[in-house]
Amino acid sequence: MKVCVKPTNGKVEMIDVPIPEPGPGEVIVKTTMATVCGSDMHFLDEFPNEMLGALFAGSVLPEGLPMGHEGVGTVHAIGEGVTRFKEGDRIMASCLVGCGRCRECMTVDHSVCTGGGRVIFGCQAEYYRVPFADVNAAVVPDAVSDEMAILATDILSTGFGAIERAEAGFGASVAVLAQGPVGLCATAGARARGCGLIIAVDAVPERLEMSKKFGANVVINAKEEDPVVKIMSLTNGQGVDVAVEAVGTQATFEACTRAIRRGGTVSSVGVYGLTPQLSMPTFTAPSFLHRKIVTTLCPSGTVRMENLLGLIENARIDLHPLFTHRMTLDDMPKAYDLFRSKAEGVLKIAITP
Ligand SMILES: [Zn+2]
Ligand SMILES: [Zn+2]
Repeated sequence: MKVCVKPTNGKVEMIDVPIPEPGPGEVIVKTTMATVCGSDMHFLDEFPNEMLGALFAGSVLPEGLPMGHEGVGTVHAIGEGVTRFKEGDRIMASCLVGCGRCRECMTVDHSVCTGGGRVIFGCQAEYYRVPFADVNAAVVPDAVSDEMAILATDILSTGFGAIERAEAGFGASVAVLAQGPVGLCATAGARARGCGLIIAVDAVPERLEMSKKFGANVVINAKEEDPVVKIMSLTNGQGVDVAVEAVGTQATFEACTRAIRRGGTVSSVGVYGLTPQLSMPTFTAPSFLHRKIVTTLCPSGTVRMENLLGLIENARIDLHPLFTHRMTLDDMPKAYDLFRSKAEGVLKIAITP
């Protein structure tokens, strides 16, 4: 089968390897759709394979790191002990898989598993492996497209999670700083959750246009005006209830801390990669009294996936406009170049075998 691997930082290539065999608790999925994510760019450009091999035992092949953690497809083979799926089922799994048995899986979320959970690697392939399938995968209802199901594996769960974790209530004011795919999902999540004023910030005009479609009341082009100044003027100088950091940079994190009101919440879902540290601004002394910061990786596991699929199906959440490009697996190197460049208004690329 074909799989996209990273032999070394900054480079991907397609290679042929045998179709994987399922181990205990695993299913092998025949891919119908994969996609590229911002996190893939961190794995590709920042983290050396040796580091990833040490962090995620068994995940790196001799040829390189199998790329991609967002996938949907049909069950091809079932490992010993799997009871909830059968061959041919159309399924998806959270991009982070948890064991379902450790204290963290049982009390917090599968995304913080300490019992062998990890990122799924290798979805950008004709077949991929889902570990701990019974507690991380879900059958996709017929009414939910591959596109929507694949968003639920990661960015929809993360973006909506940013709003939930901040406990944004009916009518709450929310600013989402950066309108990449995760930020756009946070914008849509704020609208779905019943928030009031929703402010979307980015520097790419196509992304701001998309924000309006997804429910933003006001968009701010950060190239044209200072987002914090504008947010303050839109909220009578008070700041918003919730500011979502959705890109993973010092500048946006800091802007979020300055954009919330007293008692407000910074909800951080951007991936800071190898950024060594984040600092807080001090010029608005006392800078951060009576405010809070919450962080969310990507709420994961079967129940979360089933809930999101139910939300998509029944609340008619439609994020199809996020798919700006369509390619096949053979185009993976091109897909990465495009995604890195942010050219052509690219948001999500639907990749089929
Ligand atoms: Zn992702
Ligand atoms: Zn666990």
